[in-house]
Amino acid sequence: MKYIPKMYQKSIFDISYDKLKEKGIKCLVFDLDNTLGLIDQELPNSDVVELFNKLKKDFDLYILSNNSKTERVDKYKDALGCKAQNKALKPFTRGLRRISEAGNYKKEEMAIIGDQLVTDIYAGTRYGIITVLVDPLGEKDLWVTKFNRIKENRKLRKYKKKNVFERGKYYEW
Ligand SMILES: [Mg+2]
Repeated sequence: MKYIPKMYQKSIFDISYDKLKEKGIKCLVFDLDNTLGLIDQELPNSDVVELFNKLKKDFDLYILSNNSKTERVDKYKDALGCKAQNKALKPFTRGLRRISEAGNYKKEEMAIIGDQLVTDIYAGTRYGIITVLVDPLGEKDLWVTKFNRIKENRKLRKYKKKNVFERGKYYEW
């Protein structure tokens, strides 16, 4: 199922990165807005910086954002000391392919982490890598995301009815 994540946790702080490492993941690709920070938050919180510093020991870290503003993404990139790309057009997989080529990662060594089913998770599934969903940090979305949320909510209702997936019911790989 293309919109159902492999792993689902409340936030980036609840993900068991040890498990991802154990499974052979070497490259983590993070969404930015509502995953690493609120959409109007200029810089990441210190606990996000701390988490990234810890994760760097075990993983290569990337930000892949659909946000069109280069300066916004660059601020996170600099604060977190990782590589980043904006205007990613997820669910298109070009951004993921570029990362995979640049770092020479096999698909089974990559995971995408994000808050949206129809962009982050769908992009990951299409590309054939591990997908990790988190809950959005805030209620406010970028205007483009608003349309995606409508689509997402429709899917969520369907999945809940079929008992295959529900927001708030977290699970491990
Ligand atoms: Mg997002």
